Amino acid sequence: MRIPGAYSKDKIPYFLRHFAPHANIHRLHEVNVDELWARGKRLILLDVDNTLLPWRSMDLPQETLDWVKHAEEKGFALCVISNTRHPERLKALCESLGIDFVLARMKPSRQMFVKAMSRHKAGPTETVMIGDQLLTDVLGANRAGIDAIWVTPMSNVEFAGTRINRVIEAVIGRFLFRYFQPSVPYGVPADKPGLFKHQVVTEFLKFAVIGVTSTIIDIGIHFYLMYIAPYGETSLREHVGQSVLGIFNPGSPMTEKAITDAAYAPLKILPVLLAIFNGYFWNSRWTFRVAERKIQFNLVAKFYVVALTAMLVNLGVSTTVMHMVHIGEKRDFAIASFCGLVVAALVNFIGQRQWTFHGVQKRS
Ligand SMILES: [Mg+2]
Repeated sequence: MRIPGAYSKDKIPYFLRHFAPHANIHRLHEVNVDELWARGKRLILLDVDNTLLPWRSMDLPQETLDWVKHAEEKGFALCVISNTRHPERLKALCESLGIDFVLARMKPSRQMFVKAMSRHKAGPTETVMIGDQLLTDVLGANRAGIDAIWVTPMSNVEFAGTRINRVIEAVIGRFLFRYFQPSVPYGVPADKPGLFKHQVVTEFLKFAVIGVTSTIIDIGIHFYLMYIAPYGETSLREHVGQSVLGIFNPGSPMTEKAITDAAYAPLKILPVLLAIFNGYFWNSRWTFRVAERKIQFNLVAKFYVVALTAMLVNLGVSTTVMHMVHIGEKRDFAIASFCGLVVAALVNFIGQRQWTFHGVQKRS
């Protein structure tokens, strides 16, 4: 029987963490849905066999029916993800429960978890998995960045493959028990963090480091295009500058200064776009640890919108400050640039954190 309690996941060695549930609860109907709701969970993924009902049975216990009803009344979306080899039985069970199910590659693959989340429009932090097996339900949930609640199997009668899993599970379970705190209802209360343990501070510092690399990329590529890149017999700068002047200001004198000024903005576009993509790539993996590792178009689009908005904010703030401060031209310039940069960095960070990457982050 699983003693109710929670695991200190951040203290578990990395290689074991993937198998660690967030919490143990004896039976599904003992899971407190009000508490899950208060923790921001909105989608509950459910295993079937030995979690909702005994293996091979078609009789859903009254406690399961009552619990499902209560969770739905609370406002939860519920979805079954099962490794069953009998989809007809699964379909019949889900119909009688009135809840949805998904079929895809078997747990511990992330596929069913990701499919269920995208169907119900919930991010990993808003989702919780409840199941009775470490090697499928819990491992799969962790791989998808979802909290898992590990329940006691309802019966000892099981599929032969599951019985083998139970032996491995027993060994892992013994190790995990060292990090277990009984009677903690769901999550372990966090230690009081110091400044650098605050997640938002760490995220901001990472964001800033990546910002520096993006700036280097931006300036480096822009410099290359302006002063090194050839174009046939001449340079790219001269070619672009002359073309721009020819289109927008025909007849104006083609001085070296006029050509350079005209080429500056068009040759800045590519470096800026590449620098922003660099920001997306590393922030999605390192700073905000997005659960889904492949590049997601909607996140990329949002990232560009926020980053480009932040650039406009930078321009607006620095121009305003430049007009307001009068303590010497170079100092005015330095103060204006600094103010623009700080405000834009904050706008960028807050926008990316609260909008672009909201709800898609992996949990440790
Ligand atoms: Mg099961």
